[in-house]
Amino acid sequence: MDASKLRKFVNRHVRWLRWAMQMNHWQVDLCVEPIDKPKTCATFTADPKYQQIALTFDPAKIDTEEDALKVLRHEMIHGLLAEFNLLYDAMERVAPRDEMTLLDTIYHHSLERSVVSIERMLDSGLGLSGMAFIQRAKKVSKNYDPVADNDQDEKDESTNEQNK
Ligand SMILES: [Zn+2]
Repeated sequence: MDASKLRKFVNRHVRWLRWAMQMNHWQVDLCVEPIDKPKTCATFTADPKYQQIALTFDPAKIDTEEDALKVLRHEMIHGLLAEFNLLYDAMERVAPRDEMTLLDTIYHHSLERSVVSIERMLDSGLGLSGMAFIQRAKKVSKNYDPVADNDQDEKDESTNEQNK
């Protein structure tokens, strides 16, 4: 996907995901650039203490807006679970170094399985795949204006989108 198109698409929709997940107070920083791991199309890091999330999307590995939305929702669900980072930090401090490899594998496996379970609940249990998730958030949010604190270009773009 074209990098600037991808950036605009993600910026436009991440606000509704923040609303849907009630993470409006979290700052989400977005980076669109190549990721030097063949099978990784996006990366996620979070600092729960400061409620900050950093997302990186590789435009060469995301083909469609549908893919972008699926990846974005996946990464934002990781955001929902970001408090577990504190557990990881504690494990790193107290676990013996030779035990940490196993703990790291179990930790990441458990997190990934939890994200997939939430995705399954949304997609199959509630029928909220793709844009249905965003539309549901827009319907529920009523007076919330997710573009109010963003720059005018994006606000104009979003307004134009709504007027189509
Ligand atoms: Zn994941």
